[in-house]
Amino acid sequence: MNSAINENLVREIVKEVLAKMGRAPQAEAPPAPTPRAPAPREKGSRGRFGVFEDVDLACAAAKASFLLLREQGVAARVKVIEIVKRMSSENAESWGRMELEETQIGRLDHKIEKLKILAQVPGVEFLHPTGLSGDHGITLEEYTPFGVIGAVTPSTHSIPTLTGNIVSMVAAGNAVVFNPHPAAVRCAVHAVRAYNQAIHRELGIENLVCVMENPTVEGFQALAKNPEVSLLAVTGGPGVVRAAMGSGKRAVCAGPGNPPVLVDETVDLDSAARKVVQGAAYDNNLLCIGEKEVFVLAELADRFLSALERAGAERLSGPQLERLTRAAFSVTPGTGGGCAHASVNRDLIGKDPAVLGRAAGLEVRPKTQLLFAETEADHLFVEEEQMMPMLPVVRVRSVEEGIALAQKAEHGYRHTAIIHSHDVSRMTAMARALDTTLFVKNGPSMAGLGQGGEGYLSYTIATPTGEGVTNPRTFTRVRRCVMVDNLRIY
Ligand code: NAD
Repeated sequence: MNSAINENLVREIVKEVLAKMGRAPQAEAPPAPTPRAPAPREKGSRGRFGVFEDVDLACAAAKASFLLLREQGVAARVKVIEIVKRMSSENAESWGRMELEETQIGRLDHKIEKLKILAQVPGVEFLHPTGLSGDHGITLEEYTPFGVIGAVTPSTHSIPTLTGNIVSMVAAGNAVVFNPHPAAVRCAVHAVRAYNQAIHRELGIENLVCVMENPTVEGFQALAKNPEVSLLAVTGGPGVVRAAMGSGKRAVCAGPGNPPVLVDETVDLDSAARKVVQGAAYDNNLLCIGEKEVFVLAELADRFLSALERAGAERLSGPQLERLTRAAFSVTPGTGGGCAHASVNRDLIGKDPAVLGRAAGLEVRPKTQLLFAETEADHLFVEEEQMMPMLPVVRVRSVEEGIALAQKAEHGYRHTAIIHSHDVSRMTAMARALDTTLFVKNGPSMAGLGQGGEGYLSYTIATPTGEGVTNPRTFTRVRRCVMVDNLRIY
């Protein structure tokens, strides 16, 4: 790579960006970080290897890196993806541990696994241009980058979401600036710095992936407003989805879910129970796709509850459920119409069954992965996206009632639903009624993300904005190039 040309190019871009931001470039302005010789870090302002305190500087650096990536072509994108996937797999143990120590939610084995499987996120091979050929010549439609993307990541899977986003976004030719969850920022910063150091060694690009080291809601707003950011991609709960959709900028939003499960009499109950436990216990039920409540036909409910026990889950009695419910939710009087509103106690989110058991007054067996209890359909554990390894099970009189209650529990998030049935008309009815982005039949929820079912992986499932399981195409602009009356070869 010609570093003189690139250095000038970087200077020009930084000047242009600073001018746009109303900061007139000075003749003696410090040189921008050059591809092979990064500028020493200036405390409090300039980032290095993607770590920034100032949103506008991060966006300017990301823009410069985007242009360098463009210059080096698709081969450079392939290289970045190879680096990022290899590093997330090689560092899975230590990074998984680091994320768990920082966030204190989830399970170490699954934190590690979530980093190891990132190889399954698709890369540049996902972008097939479309060619049209006819009497009036030829036309090519290509998937091209936006430039700089502003992204938000959740506390539930910080490095996995960040890494999956990098693969999809860079495959499409973009750079990205992350505003990570404040409760999972240290691990995000660590991974971003390590990725950029490796990318810089191989390609001479220093800030392709930027991260805010002090993320705030105001920082997100500044990111959304920055003129270099052409697209937002947010993964999180209702608050950030509302903020992104109200920002006035195009946003790909991966929002909350509360996935219901329906079980009927046509399936092997032991097999269904094992799959339900597998999905609901994963990372202590932090997955947005994870099974959050079960509706089961009344006549098989007792047998299904026993099957859950055989599958390794532990049952709570009525009084134990009551104690846990009091510990897990706070109900505060609402402001409108006197309605009470429940909020989930963050101290119990993603905690081990043993911790929930203690709150319920139960000493759980050491290997227990999941707690469950029989509840009514309007119980808080059914209604709220609780993100705890405690699964409420509700008896229903008919499949129709089960579908109606599942629809109510899903709250129109249109995220994920699961059925265990061999009756295709019931599958069709539930799929149509719930209208979810993922609909899994006869498997654990993660089968919807290629883990035991066909398909590819992403930790960002765009629900309210409709892009679905995100992939490199999600982060592209489709551009058409037309040659009139020529180049058609027959
Ligand atoms: P969260 O909503 O608390 O935080 C997500 C991110 O949004 C964080 O970075 C946070 O700082 C930021 N944020 C929150 N409110 C904001 C606001 N008003 N303005 C700007 N930024 C704001 O989520 P969490 O607890 O980390 O993650 C769990 C939630 O995310 C669950 O609801 C889960 O279903 C959802 N989730 C969805 C997907 C998906 O692919 N659809 C994936 C993972 C998590």
